[in-house]
Parts: sequence; C-alpha cells; structure tokens
Amino acid sequence: MHLSTKMIHGGISEDPLTGAVSVPIYQTSTYRQKKLGQPGDFEYSRSGNPTRLALEELIAELEGGVQGFAFASGLAAIHATLSLFQPGDHLILGDDVYGGTFRLLEKVFAPLGLSYTMVDAQDSAQLEAALTENTKALYLESPSNPLLKIIDLEKSAAWAKSHELLTIVDNTFATPYLQQPLALGADIVLHSGTKYLGGHSDLVAGLATTNDEALAEKIGFYQNSIGGVLGPQDSWLLQRGIKTLAVRMEAHQKNATAVAEFLTKHPAVATVYYPGLADHPGHAIAAKQMKGFGGMVAFELVDESKVANFVESLQIITLAESLGGVESLIEVPAVMTHASIPKEQRTAAGIKDGLIRLSVGIEELTDLQNDLDHALEEK
Ligand SMILES: *Cc1c(COP(=O)(O)O)cnc(C)c1O
Repeated sequence: MHLSTKMIHGGISEDPLTGAVSVPIYQTSTYRQKKLGQPGDFEYSRSGNPTRLALEELIAELEGGVQGFAFASGLAAIHATLSLFQPGDHLILGDDVYGGTFRLLEKVFAPLGLSYTMVDAQDSAQLEAALTENTKALYLESPSNPLLKIIDLEKSAAWAKSHELLTIVDNTFATPYLQQPLALGADIVLHSGTKYLGGHSDLVAGLATTNDEALAEKIGFYQNSIGGVLGPQDSWLLQRGIKTLAVRMEAHQKNATAVAEFLTKHPAVATVYYPGLADHPGHAIAAKQMKGFGGMVAFELVDESKVANFVESLQIITLAESLGGVESLIEVPAVMTHASIPKEQRTAAGIKDGLIRLSVGIEELTDLQNDLDHALEEK
C-alpha cells in the first residue's frame, strides 16, 4: 500500500461491528468485564479506548513503528517520552527546537535532575563536544522550528547509535508523508498532531511511535501512568484529518515554494529560509531525506522596524501561533512561539527579533501573494 492510501485505510479504518467506514467515537470511560479478573481488550479509557487505538495504530503504520501513542497535546507526548530518562541523565538537543520543548526541559525536567546541552546539530564537531558519559539521547527537529535548518537524520542517528544514544525526532514539520525518521535510524518519533496531521486548526493532540518493542512498552507505561491521553472525540478528529494529509501536504508545499520564490525577489525582504530554495544550506540533505520541502517559510525584512506593521496589515494571512492548518498563519517567534527561550539563547541560535515565520496554507496562491505584496508595501 502506498503511503497516501495508508492514510485512508491504515491502522483500524472502519468499525468491524457495523462496517461503518469511519471509526465510531467510543465515548466511554470503562468497559463491562464478563468474568472477574478477566477483562477484555479494553478495561478503562486512560489505558485504552477503541477510537484512540485506531489513531494509534494509524500513526504507527505511517511512521513504520510497532506501536503508537496518542496524547492530549504534543507536549504531553514529549513529556511521556522524556520520562524515559532518570536524574543524572544528559540529552543533546538541537538548538532551535520548539520553544515549549525547551521550556519543558529547562523548567520541569532540569530541576528534577535531567541535564541537556543545545548544539547546532548540523555540525558534527558540536555533537562530539557535547557528549558526556551520562548522555542518553539525541533529540532533533528537522526541518527545525523556526529557522528550517535541515539536519542529516541518517548521519545523526548513526552517530548516536555508535555512542549508544537513542535518537528522538520531532517530525511535526515534515509529517510522515514527507519524511520517516524511523527508516533513517531514529528510535522514537514525536508529533504535535495539532499541526499538519490534524490540519484544520481545530484540535490539540500529540503522537509518539517507536520501532522498538521495549521502548514501546515503556512509553505505554508512561502514557498510562502520567495520564495525558487524547480523548475519543479528538482521536476521531485527528484520524479524519490524517486521511487528507497527502493532498494537503502537496498543496501546502506547492504554495510554499511559490511564496518563498516570491519573497526572495521582493525588495522589502532581506533573507528567506526555505529548504526548497537551491541556496538554502540544507537543500541537498532535505532533497535526499524528504519527499518534498514542506509548507513552512521563514524570512526577515530589510527594515526590522516594519515587522509589526507588516504582520498587522495582512488581510487573509492570520497573525496567530500554530501552523499546519489549511489557512495561512504568520507569527514572530521572538515575541510569540519562542518567547519562552531567553533572548541570548535565541540570538545564539540565529533567531533574530524580526524573524517572521509563515505557515503557508492551501488558499489560492495569487490571494496569498497579493496579501503579502500589499502588506510589504505598507509604509
Ligand atoms: C506545536 C509543536 C509542539 C507542541 O505541540 P502541542 O500540540 O502544541 O503541545 C512540539 N513540537 C513542534 C515542532 C511543534 O510545532
């Protein structure tokens, strides 16, 4: 089965009881036990729910994992995954990971004794330098957020394996349609289902999957023990979103490519970051490990003082956090999504105060270009 077919027919895609072609929403907390001490497949909905299971099987199938896990948010998925580590353990982290991931490590896990070093993971010398005898994992995003840096996942995972580290990849920006980190050597893949997988800016969810049975058992243990599970309504909605992922991603990246080229030529724009541009430093690696370059574009204006005016002048493109929905969303990371990262650290990672991140939606391209053009010309 091709990936786009799996998105529709993968995992558990219909109701075995009635033949309904959409998995029912099993709105229940518990399940009748026919014999004492012999529960059926489901006991209690924190531990398992048929609607959630359908989604969990689907993400495992799409990423090539042995088991999937659905959470109430991307951060809940990351929390359960980071719970694999013990006080005293050390992680190596890409330097422009999602701001909330940084906050979770810095404010929740670091006080409990987990340490980490942030590196420019494109640079193998920095990886080597960060290694300690307590290092247990390498945590990466590619394309990264918000600078769309590309990390060679196959090379990084091989390096991690040679030092007995786990490789954890947040695949939110690429989605399994464009990139499958487990096939490139990663051990655990994470998603904010809130973004492209859901695709319509109408839910918050997280997913995790792994191709290792022992790791799957542990993640399942933390999912059930911490309890940040996804409810049946949102599990259904996320599965529905994933059915159209292939066509949406094609439309997103077609628009993103054109928007990136448009911005590159615009005199009011100083720098454009899009892995699909031939002069992007990660272009060749992205072309090797991804099936396309995705729908995210970042850029800087020539005149940084015009950023607020620009984003507020847009009519169709919405000033909002989040990404991956059918509607175009724009934001300024230093003020919005990445404000929880201290300025020094942001600057060191190359995230300038005036950097703008655009999640290119699937609206008609000329409407997007006209909107950008108009706002860029505002005085
Ligand atoms: C949004 C996001 C998260 C966090 O997911 P939530 O669903 O908001 O908790 C994690 N990683 C990346 C790359 C994201 O964009």
